Amino acid sequence: MQEIEINGRLYRIETVMTRNRNAYARLKGETILVSMPGHWPRKEREKTAASLVKRTVKEIARGRWTPEGSRKLEFSHGQMLSILGQEYNLVFIPSGRFGGKTRGSTIEIRVAEHPEKEKKASQMVCSQIIKAAKPEVMERVRHFNTRHFNTDIKRLTLRDNTSTWGSCSKKGNITLNIRLLFMPLEILDYVIVHELAHTRYMSHGSRFWGLVERVLPDYRERKKWLRNYGWSAVPGKRSGQQKISSFFHECPL
Ligand SMILES: [Zn+2]
Repeated sequence: MQEIEINGRLYRIETVMTRNRNAYARLKGETILVSMPGHWPRKEREKTAASLVKRTVKEIARGRWTPEGSRKLEFSHGQMLSILGQEYNLVFIPSGRFGGKTRGSTIEIRVAEHPEKEKKASQMVCSQIIKAAKPEVMERVRHFNTRHFNTDIKRLTLRDNTSTWGSCSKKGNITLNIRLLFMPLEILDYVIVHELAHTRYMSHGSRFWGLVERVLPDYRERKKWLRNYGWSAVPGKRSGQQKISSFFHECPL
């Protein structure tokens, strides 16, 4: 077991062999988890692991990734949420059973007695946020798609993800992180365009970035913003378990 000290805090480095095609590193609590395809030659594994650890250490040292962050979104009673630029008030009401609804600008969650009631309530808040925001997000996806990509979008999924901002399958299933809904619209749009561009090019090569740039000439600034502030721009505690992909089919953005 390797250990490393970053800003006075001790982190463990753990490597796991997988059957995946890609190598990546993520932070989980105080552990830097390196996931390595077992079929790679040993030299290749060592070289890639070293470079992934180096990048992860840099992210931690800069405060972009934190151990406190390896958690799903947490919400509490009375919290104000800005979703796609619109303010919502969060109300938790003690009740016999769990339930949620959104009335105007109030998200109302009925919370029953349960050993994991905070977790369940937060999950219900996420569902309400997704329900409220999905039509507009879909509208924005369609907007960019019709003008620039003209691809067949099968499904849009919004999810509380702790590792990626978005993903896109070849079949046209787009997944976006709900944390993007709390950020400036420019950032959400950047991730939408990024994922749509993957319907043309799966890899992050020069043709891929060229296409993103044609749609959003200032994409570099948006990308930088997301990298610097993305994981701290969400309500409640910072999120984590962020992932750096060393290869192309995931989106470190
Ligand atoms: Zn990508």
